[in-house]
Amino acid sequence: MKYCQGPKCHQYRTKDRIKGTKGSKTYQTRRRSSFYYGNDNFCSMNCYNDWANEFADRAIDHFGRITVAKHLTKNNAWYKDYNWVDYQNDTREYLYVNGITKEQRPLTEEQYRDTNYTLNTGE
Ligand SMILES: [Zn+2]
Repeated sequence: MKYCQGPKCHQYRTKDRIKGTKGSKTYQTRRRSSFYYGNDNFCSMNCYNDWANEFADRAIDHFGRITVAKHLTKNNAWYKDYNWVDYQNDTREYLYVNGITKEQRPLTEEQYRDTNYTLNTGE
């Protein structure tokens, strides 16, 4: 179990946030095994936005602010895709497609699922 990282989560007065023993109940930060938002860190878009409004500038300055435009070129335009071969039996053919040159290359299912596998050579 983990806590929502929204700095104001406890300020949203919903029934499910009321915790504690009778006589000393308070609205508390939501605690769940998983969350839908912000890479599994926030219970709602409100909490995600509260965090961004308070901390995004510092986080961006820490990890590197983009100050010049990035460019999509043939060296970083590869994306993974698939075509249905047999929808009934969930059979697909996986492929890499270059968004600039439109070149296609076959991909194994393992390569498709491997988030580290890429043909891109730049950002
Ligand atoms: Zn929250």
